[in-house]
Amino acid sequence: MAKKKTVRTIPQTRTPMPERPAQVRAKNFSEVATGYRPEDALREAERCLQCADEPCVRGCPVGVDIPGFIRRIEERDLRGAYDTLTDTNLLPAVCGRVCPQENQCEGVCTVGDSLEPVAIGRLERYVGDIAIREGWVNVPYVEPVRYRVGIVGSGPAGMACAADMAKAGCEVTVYEAFHQPGGVLRYGIPDFRLPNEVIDAEIENLKKLGVRFECNTLVGRLFTIEQMITTLGFDAVFIGVGAGYPTMLNIPGDSLNGVLSANELLTRCNLMRARDFPAFDTPLPAGRRVAVVGAGNTAMDAMRVSLRLGSEKVYCIYRRSRTEAPARVEEVHHAEEEGVEFHWLTAPVAVLDDGQGNVRGLRCVRMTLGEPDKSGRRRPIVVPDSEFDFECDVVVYAIGTNANPIMGQTSGMKLNEWGYIATNESLATSLAGVFAGGDIVTGAATVIQAMGAGRRAAKSMKQYLGLRDAADTSAGGTLFGIELAEHGFTRVRAA
Ligand SMILES: Cc1cc2nc3c(=O)[nH]c(=O)nc-3n(C[C@H](O)[C@H](O)[C@H](O)COP(=O)(O)OP(=O)(O)OC[C@H]3O[C@@H](n4cnc5c(N)ncnc54)[C@H](O)[C@@H]3O)c2cc1C
Ligand code: SF4
Repeated sequence: MAKKKTVRTIPQTRTPMPERPAQVRAKNFSEVATGYRPEDALREAERCLQCADEPCVRGCPVGVDIPGFIRRIEERDLRGAYDTLTDTNLLPAVCGRVCPQENQCEGVCTVGDSLEPVAIGRLERYVGDIAIREGWVNVPYVEPVRYRVGIVGSGPAGMACAADMAKAGCEVTVYEAFHQPGGVLRYGIPDFRLPNEVIDAEIENLKKLGVRFECNTLVGRLFTIEQMITTLGFDAVFIGVGAGYPTMLNIPGDSLNGVLSANELLTRCNLMRARDFPAFDTPLPAGRRVAVVGAGNTAMDAMRVSLRLGSEKVYCIYRRSRTEAPARVEEVHHAEEEGVEFHWLTAPVAVLDDGQGNVRGLRCVRMTLGEPDKSGRRRPIVVPDSEFDFECDVVVYAIGTNANPIMGQTSGMKLNEWGYIATNESLATSLAGVFAGGDIVTGAATVIQAMGAGRRAAKSMKQYLGLRDAADTSAGGTLFGIELAEHGFTRVRAA
């Protein structure tokens, strides 16, 4: 029998992730982290103690069987590891790259009590990437049912809901406003963090399940949610339209040329290919000195994109300190390595005009931190008489987003006080047969939370339609003398 592992017997240091050198990568859009090699993955998998109480599983928003998939890596059963991961997580190659693991599974990993935690995300990405390379996909045999499901929005919430409903035998159509599917994964997160090929592969997997994508379709303008049920004949609808409506600072100078939101900058660069201008006809204001306000993932992406677009100086302006920055630790570290200049405890009060309607600088004040506010983070307080100006020609706001009002304006659905769609705990909205989840319900959150919401909504939708999953019969037993496993409305057989 294999000897039981302890913290003393496992490799003591976390296996580093191979990365491109900062000076080289800051000039192009190639992926920064190049991924574990087989020997790296085996070494890191060895660090997992296979804890009986599985704290990491509880730390994962969708409850991935983390010790299970890591054990299979150790056993060199990579297909088994992929199957274990995809039991709960539709997008391992995506989540392995972008999930904030330090606040989730890795944040509660037992090894982390004495050493650096097991690099769960890096192992997840390793398996996800091999699956893409090898063309692995779990397409079950699905017996069609007569229901048609419409999904609005093709981000992680919509993708997860679409996959589960397609597996339940429904005919699924996803409507997407942009010309390419993927949501923030496509238009927001840049290629150097999440290459387009990874998103393409995941979308292809959905198509293999029979999911249809209708892009260039702005729901609420072409047709309403109510019309999806009454006129287009969908039996159920899921809304996963995200929260992409930018917040501006509302300070003097907000409307000068050269002020833009991070979402606009990123969408223009990533989805509309402004980075390949003039080959692609999407302009962007060329900033020699760019000031990005905010310190979340979106801010880090906007700054690192600006560097790659050729800006000489990129500043991060944030009113709290580094400790409170909401971005993933790794993103702040990468931005710093690439040359972003951080100005912590600094808040803008006005954007300055060059006299011709263009940005010439930013007026800021120094901040200090007071008592924690409602969010638990220490409240920033202005230091008196601390105003100062500094030069820049582009200002990018990355201070959060809101719900796009289009859903509320065009449908009778109930919204909550902040304008997000109101749902009950089953993610049902106030309209019969209409469910919602992801950022449009919770406000800006994370990829894995959106995916988890899509799956929860799919479960509720199946109940609403009277569909039973193979998984729902796992407790066994009989109903009207028929084995429950045989009683499913859908019979799913692994291909
Ligand atoms: C720049 C950036 C970086 C981020 N980095 C990370 C990260 O590193 N890790 C992490 O976990 N999270 C990150 N996030 C957050 C994460 O991406 C989101 O929480 C997640 O994508 C939300 O998923 P969603 O499916 O709810 O919505 P979205 O991903 O926003 O997708 C919604 C889709 O619906 C479409 N849509 C909107 N309105 C309509 C309509 N009326 N009709 C049809 N389609 C419509 C949109 O075009 C979009 O494609 C980041 C967010 C941004 C903006
Ligand atoms: S908590 Fe860490 S060591 Fe324990 S099973 Fe999970 S990943 Fe492995």
